[in-house]
Amino acid sequence: MAGARNEQLVEKIKEAADILDIVGEVVNLRRAGRYYSGLCPFHAEKTPSFFVDPHRQLFHCFGCGAGGDVIKFVMQHRGLSFSEALEFLADRYNIRIETGRPKTESSRTALLFRYMAIAEEFYYRQLRYSSEGSIAREYLKKRQIDDRIVEEQRLGYAPQSWDALVRHFKEQGLDLQKGVELGLFGIASSNHSGERFYDRFRNRLIFPIRNARGQVVAFGGRTLEEGNSHNEPKYLNSPETDLYRKRTILYQFHLAQEACRKQRQVILVEGYMDALAFHRAGFYRVVATLGTALTPQQARLIKRIADEVVLVYDGDEAGKKAMIRNFPVLAQEGIQASCVVLPEGMDPDDFLRKYSLDDFQNLMNSRMDLGEFVITETLNSWDGSTSGKMKVLSELFPYLEAIPHPVVRAEYIKTAGLRLGIADEVINEQFKLWRKTSTDREKPEALPPNPIKITPRNKPLTKLTYNPTNCVFSLEEEIIKILVAYPHLAEKAFEKDCWQFFLDNLPEDTSTKVTWQILKAFHEEWLEISQNEWNKNKFCVDRIYDRIKDPKARDLFSKMIFENKFCGNETTACLFLNDYLGALQKQVFKLRRSQLMRELAEAERKGDNEAIKSTLQKIQRLTELKDLRGN
Ligand SMILES: [Zn+2]
Repeated sequence: MAGARNEQLVEKIKEAADILDIVGEVVNLRRAGRYYSGLCPFHAEKTPSFFVDPHRQLFHCFGCGAGGDVIKFVMQHRGLSFSEALEFLADRYNIRIETGRPKTESSRTALLFRYMAIAEEFYYRQLRYSSEGSIAREYLKKRQIDDRIVEEQRLGYAPQSWDALVRHFKEQGLDLQKGVELGLFGIASSNHSGERFYDRFRNRLIFPIRNARGQVVAFGGRTLEEGNSHNEPKYLNSPETDLYRKRTILYQFHLAQEACRKQRQVILVEGYMDALAFHRAGFYRVVATLGTALTPQQARLIKRIADEVVLVYDGDEAGKKAMIRNFPVLAQEGIQASCVVLPEGMDPDDFLRKYSLDDFQNLMNSRMDLGEFVITETLNSWDGSTSGKMKVLSELFPYLEAIPHPVVRAEYIKTAGLRLGIADEVINEQFKLWRKTSTDREKPEALPPNPIKITPRNKPLTKLTYNPTNCVFSLEEEIIKILVAYPHLAEKAFEKDCWQFFLDNLPEDTSTKVTWQILKAFHEEWLEISQNEWNKNKFCVDRIYDRIKDPKARDLFSKMIFENKFCGNETTACLFLNDYLGALQKQVFKLRRSQLMRELAEAERKGDNEAIKSTLQKIQRLTELKDLRGN
């Protein structure tokens, strides 16, 4: 890939890719203030020190120092080169790469998708046309799943055979090993016949599971075994594969995404049949979790397409419990959630078969805020005694804890207080106490670590330390810290003529230093923006990150962004910046002069008169510059 094309591609990819998506596939991310945190995938740890900044699209680990943008993450996590990582992301986000060779051959992922499509077609044909498939067709009829749904979903049937799909793959000349990687086949090895591949799905109704773009990434299979003599699970899903990360997929998301455009509200159900029951009724704003508790990644998918999610689970105790369990995740992601309680013993499929979609809409009109539902259900377990109040409250606290917004939490506390006959303040106090002891116990919520407190205020300016081990002048770092917090102050820094002085007089051995690369990137960005109309809002650090080419400088910069160490206000920042720039100027002056003095000594040793003369001139100009600036 050529340079210019590459840069354009990087820009396109970074525009399309969401670092939360990509990191979220491998790290269980939870919101922690303005960041997301989780266990670092690059080093072993038990408490999260790995952070993702969704606004700046950067990650950083305070444990091992890994950090960077989405491309860097893919490179490091998948062990890919830069261009391989670009290819991977381009493929993921459907961005065309002009490589000169056909894209289908350039990408392993594309190949895997093709294999899944072949399996999908095979199962579909079995359901549609094979005589064996009649058992599945009967079942669908019984469940009132009509042809329209079968076509739309490309439902399928996996025959009662150990190698129906294996044989089909062989006939097509496909790589069986890839089928294993995709979770379609298992391998049995025996002494006499060596390795044998077998179908994972047998005698099952097949539900293709698709990603947001509608590509098949996995299959779910419902057993059609009568009486289930083989102790097979009722539902069997594909295992995790390179295409399928369970935590990040919502069943029917691709259709719901489209349907939610007009009305940003989505129904969340538990299983295949529930979701398809809504489709049958002509209602497509529905997604399903497929039997697991909602993950933060799935919650963020929901947030992408809807402003409100309505949980519609089975109308029994288990269903209610499952809805309640999802509350913390939704609350933490700040998603407005409500729920509908179906008549006892009914699931959404039952309800929609017995009643109409209009009846369901009526139920929707009386839906309950999920937080209030959680409180009501929890308080229902209160036995009415005074001692029971504390017990109920302690059950409630974990849910309150999950609510990031203090106003919302106060509302819930008020509701609970009214029901229990306790003053809000008392609940608040108890909650604080509970919070303190529970954080001491297990520290459930990771917050960005508070970095070592060296505020500019208490750091003596006169003691400028050069630390040879990491090759960093602390002064420059302090300046960057301020610029990270207030990027637009770069205007002040660069309009001062001292900046040119730095660039002109920077001793050679320092010009490659990481901090200087960062400052230069700030300068370049400022130059570009200031050429057009100066707009301080346009000046932001993520663009500067892209300008830094040196990997070490990038790492340092993303670390500094995450630490965001400067905590003063803008006025203080201005004052400090002035001081630092002045001090830096002195420092650069000294460095430059001692370098010139060394050169002079060397020239004198050699008796090189030309060199002596030019060096002396340089020293003189430097002194004049310094006097000019009144230092
Ligand atoms: Zn780490």
